[in-house]
Amino acid sequence: MSKFEGWFCDTCGDIIKKAEDGWMEWIEFEDIKGKQKGRNLRLVHHKPASPKKSEHGCQFNGDYEFRKDRGVIHDLSLRDFLGPNSLMFLLSLVAENRLPIQEVLEMIKRLHIPGYEHARFHFDRAISEGVFEPNTLKGYYWQSDINAILKYIEKM
Ligand SMILES: [Zn+2]
Repeated sequence: MSKFEGWFCDTCGDIIKKAEDGWMEWIEFEDIKGKQKGRNLRLVHHKPASPKKSEHGCQFNGDYEFRKDRGVIHDLSLRDFLGPNSLMFLLSLVAENRLPIQEVLEMIKRLHIPGYEHARFHFDRAISEGVFEPNTLKGYYWQSDINAILKYIEKM
């Protein structure tokens, strides 16, 4: 396994080694005005692959989320969900305004911009050490910038 394969689990922080082990999930609920809203879009270990031995592993606890705001879990296997269909689906979430847009944009970058998932924790440090000079919107760096970061963290 290359150092830069896989995704980081939003619950336990460990690596999700392969798509089969990944699960994308979020919560939908009705706000006080009765409007359908979404929250907490995240990428986690599918329960059978989770290093956490608790009942729900890294996935949401449906009872707990329901008690919070009558939220209901929505989820998709990462295995069924890579490639163009995943990008189209995430774009449809934006179009329908089903989730906070920053959450969806971050997920699009994590799943579709090569190297982003592994580079994203090192942006500030790489910039302060002169690894690349940002000339884009913060967090929306060029592929050459991301590649420079990956090279930089490989040496760490
Ligand atoms: Zn996990």
